[in-house]
Amino acid sequence: MTLSLDDRQRAMLAEMGIRLFEPLPAAAPAATGTSAAPAATGTSVASGAPGRSAAAAASPASSASTQVVHSGAAPTTATSLTPPMTRPSAPSGRSPASPPAALALGPPPSGIEALEWDGLEQAVSGCQACGLCQGRRQTVFGVGDRQADWMIVGEAPGEQEDLRGEPFVGNAGQLLDSMLQAVGLDRGHRVYIANVIKCRPPGNRNPEPSEVAQCEPFLRRQIALVKPRIILAMGRFAVQSLLATQEPIGKLRGRLHQYEGVPVVVTYHPAYLLRNLPDKAKAWADLCLALDQFPSTEPGREPSIPT
Ligand code: SF4
Repeated sequence: MTLSLDDRQRAMLAEMGIRLFEPLPAAAPAATGTSAAPAATGTSVASGAPGRSAAAAASPASSASTQVVHSGAAPTTATSLTPPMTRPSAPSGRSPASPPAALALGPPPSGIEALEWDGLEQAVSGCQACGLCQGRRQTVFGVGDRQADWMIVGEAPGEQEDLRGEPFVGNAGQLLDSMLQAVGLDRGHRVYIANVIKCRPPGNRNPEPSEVAQCEPFLRRQIALVKPRIILAMGRFAVQSLLATQEPIGKLRGRLHQYEGVPVVVTYHPAYLLRNLPDKAKAWADLCLALDQFPSTEPGREPSIPT
């Protein structure tokens, strides 16, 4: 490709960092034929041949400029200049990084809907219905009052939960306890707490949809046994599982939903709140919405916002 540029146009290109390489006079390469001498000239740099300088090879900008001016080839390197897409931080309690894929699935759990508490707990502790069983220290079944009016549904165990066999422990658990205390609840009294997923995903990655689907029947049975009057769904995977939706939490919170006739209030996971402190006020509003539907415990007790 040849260009006819005046001095002003050349000056503008120079300002933009675009370098121009002039073709050699036809007589020079013709005289040398296949000799190696021309490979050291500007022509070889412009065409991307091995003779290009190290500086040019290391600089995407200069590589792109040589293509624009000289090669006439499709600007394939232009895409390398585009910043990679990044995944926005999701309002979930899970780690945004989610490398390992779901492991092999076993047969789906069956007969769960007829189990009572003891049988259900045994079924969970021996479950191998998805690959998460391979990395768990222990299953995390649930904790609290099995005849509670309030039920808290979280996502999946993290490292501390996996160690202790209890949902919502560690810093996120402490924040949940503060939130519950603010409305007159505590984890051993009038509230039952469980996760959608009972085994820790490796590296705290997000659970795969197939893993959620395999584990969901256990939570469904827990809810059927507890018969809560209000459910607080905390975090993206809890919300998506209970409400069978892909809508983000930001669009679902602030109004009532239903799960099998039980009112559901959607809110952020405490682990997310620890990373996004300004959203604590929204979580508090969600808690108050739940309180409006069903009082927590003690009539006349004024809720106080947790810190
Ligand atoms: S995560 Fe749920 S379905 Fe998967 S093995 Fe554990 S208990 Fe079973």
